[in-house]
This record gives sequence, structure tokens and C-alpha cells, in this order.
Amino acid sequence: SIQPAAFQRIMLKISGEALMGPEGYGLHPPTVERIAREVQAVHALGVEICMVIGGGNVFRGLAGSAQGMERTTADYMGMLATVMNALAMQSALEGLGVFTRVISAIRMDEVAEPYIRRRAVRHLEKKRVCIFAAGTGNPYFTTDTAAALRANEMACEAILMGKNGTDGVYDKDPRAHADAVRFDEVTFDEVLSKNLKVMDASAIALARDNNMPLIVFSLDEPGGFRGILEGKGTCTRIHA
Ligand code: UDP
Repeated sequence: SIQPAAFQRIMLKISGEALMGPEGYGLHPPTVERIAREVQAVHALGVEICMVIGGGNVFRGLAGSAQGMERTTADYMGMLATVMNALAMQSALEGLGVFTRVISAIRMDEVAEPYIRRRAVRHLEKKRVCIFAAGTGNPYFTTDTAAALRANEMACEAILMGKNGTDGVYDKDPRAHADAVRFDEVTFDEVLSKNLKVMDASAIALARDNNMPLIVFSLDEPGGFRGILEGKGTCTRIHA
């Protein structure tokens, strides 16, 4: 299991749907605030926190292109959706007294800082939560890849994948199979060879090639995020 305060700097990746709550679309403010409290509790430990939030609660590039939209345009729309989610999280965190910066991979200087690596590192050193928005800034990627990329650039010690409705990686879909078994630990190679659903393949490859551990855990229980960092609760740890 994970040692208390084992990490000084981490990346938290959540999907856009994590902010949707009971709604089928968009943002559910009480849910955004609930997740912000999870982050606040970890921030209080003194851990330096990077965040990447997806955009699937608003728009996914693949869905747009399936409806006939040009793929890169649809992907830019998806990236813009992540900016809205980042701003919502920023607002919720600052409402709780946690200082933040939204750092966008696509320049929009009135709304968010541009991504400048050394500047972002400085924010982390000053204990500001850095919310990396607009994914990688490139179409044909996902926010999972953005999380893996920024985690490496920021020298995070692990990527924590906060999930809804599951507490780790299973050998088969636990919703469809009552006998599905959760892995406590699994290697990157097994994830790729068994096609386990963790992150998309390019994100997994980026994490694997740089020895960046992944921890998949549930965001459903209050205090669950902090618990994982303190070595409590169930999760799956993915390593080389
Ligand atoms: N996206 C992109 N490049 C990136 C990150 C995201 O083009 O580097 C687009 C892509 O269209 C994606 C959308 O933004 O579908 C939303 O991100 P994602 O699907 O990763 O969100 P999540 O599933 O985590 O909510």
C-alpha cells in the first residue's frame, strides 16, 4: 500500500463526467464543490497538486465528428469544454480558500494563464493548485494524455485517476460480471496486453516510458482522495 505523505507532488485526473453529478450533461455545482473539498483535504496535507479535468460532460471530439463535424474542429470544441470545467473547479476551490491557477494549453490570456513550464512549477512550489486546461492543445489527443504529459513535465510522483462508480482496475467489467476481481497492482505491460480500461493507449505508453506510476481510485466516498494518499482505502496501482 501507499505510505502516508509518500508524495510531494501529484497529478489528479478526473473526467468531465465527474462534474456532472446526477445530471446527464454539463456541470452540477454541488458535485463540483464536493470534488473541490476532496482536493482541499489533500492540499491541507501539504501535497502539491496538479489537475487535469476532461470535457466529456460537455463535448467530445469523436462524438462531434461522428455527426459530420470536421474532426479537428470538434476536438478544439472538446478542448474548450475542458476550459469551462477548469474554471468551475477554480471557482469552487477558491471558494474554499485554496489558491489556484488555470493554465491553458491554448492561449486565451483574459481567461487563463498560458502554459509556461517554469512558471507552473513555481505555482506548485507556492502550493497553488495548477489546473491544466485545454488538454495538450492538440487535436487527436485526450485529456488522459494531457495528464500524463503534464505529470511528466511537472515531475509529479504519480498520476491519481479519480473515478466514479469504481475503485480500481478489474480483470473484467465489474458491472457486467459479479466475479470480476480488482487488481491491487498491475504492470503497464499487462494493462496494454490485456487491454484493461485505465487510460487510452497513448497516455499509458507515455506514463510507462517515463516510469510514472498510476493510481486508480474512487472519488465516490468523502475523504477518499486524502485516504488514498494516507495509505487507506482500496485502489489499483499501475507501475512498470
Ligand atoms: N481533446 C483534444 N486534445 C487534447 C485533449 C482533449 O482534442 O489534448 C478534445 C477531444 O475532442 C476530447 C475532448 O477534448 O474528446 C474532451 O476530452 P476527453 O474526452 O479526454 O474528456 P473526458 O473523457 O476525460 O471527460
